[in-house]
Amino acid sequence: MELNQIKEIVTLAHSRFSSIHTGEAASYIPELMRANPDHFAISVTTASGESFSIGEAEVGFTLQSTSKPFIYGLALECYGKEKLMQTTGVEPSGEAFNSIIELEEQSHLPFNPMVNSGAIAITHLLKAQEGQTRLDRVLHLFDRLTQDKTEIDLAVYQSEKKTAHRNQAIAYLLRHFGVVDDLIDESLDLYFKQCSVVSNAKKLSLMAATLANSGIQPHSQERIFSNETVRDMLSIMFTCGMYDSAGKWAYSVGIPSKSGVSGAIFGVVPGQFGVAVYSPRIDQHGHSIRGLRTFEFLSESLKLHIFEPKGTL
Ligand code: GLN
Repeated sequence: MELNQIKEIVTLAHSRFSSIHTGEAASYIPELMRANPDHFAISVTTASGESFSIGEAEVGFTLQSTSKPFIYGLALECYGKEKLMQTTGVEPSGEAFNSIIELEEQSHLPFNPMVNSGAIAITHLLKAQEGQTRLDRVLHLFDRLTQDKTEIDLAVYQSEKKTAHRNQAIAYLLRHFGVVDDLIDESLDLYFKQCSVVSNAKKLSLMAATLANSGIQPHSQERIFSNETVRDMLSIMFTCGMYDSAGKWAYSVGIPSKSGVSGAIFGVVPGQFGVAVYSPRIDQHGHSIRGLRTFEFLSESLKLHIFEPKGTL
């Protein structure tokens, strides 16, 4: 697909959905309310590294749950599929991202690595290695994905840590069922830091483009994830990335995607491009409202649904 064609539709989406003012920035992490609710950015980066952005594409936001697929990919690369399958399932939970009832009945494992329970269990797997602290490993991954120095928004991190009673409850439930060990307090802290990594729409679309490009960063040409890891990441994003509205998303948008409560959503069109939308007003599922509309529009206008019939052989 030509970048010009994408530009035209993205520009149209931006002007059309700028007028939506429903929803508010997340408040359960108080610091997130400081975001300007009217900011609206859309960025696209192709698998070959060309990009196009509109709106406040360089305004920083924290990754929040959009960090989860990448950390899952890092854990897959380091510890392998078998280990990860002993840590979380791969089933959509049908529950909110922060549900306490996030453990499967028989195994007591989290349903999947996109909801908080599963993401916390995956972050817990990352251990210090070869002179790198656990945090270094997380930061280094995002450095490689963006070719930039990764920073943490300490105010957001502290704000989440101070109010994280629910995530603490989830973490202790994981400890109770032996999914994690006593290192869990430290892992929860690392999870808050991973969620507080500063990004912007441009960078997030570049991160998505690495997945669209089968795991190879389009600018550096570094292979960050194997083909198999990318396939696993995208499968889980497709079925679980949008939590309790994942089914509707698969049906109506059909692009493997992940949202974060800061107002970011990114999606991957395999072989073609990555898209990131940032707009802080979110709905009851924690998804950016303008983001939802943008993805629906892009998918429909550019025929991006992964099951879009491509004609017969
Ligand atoms: N840090 C947030 C949390 O754990 C991430 C949630 C999200 O973005 N959906 O609650």
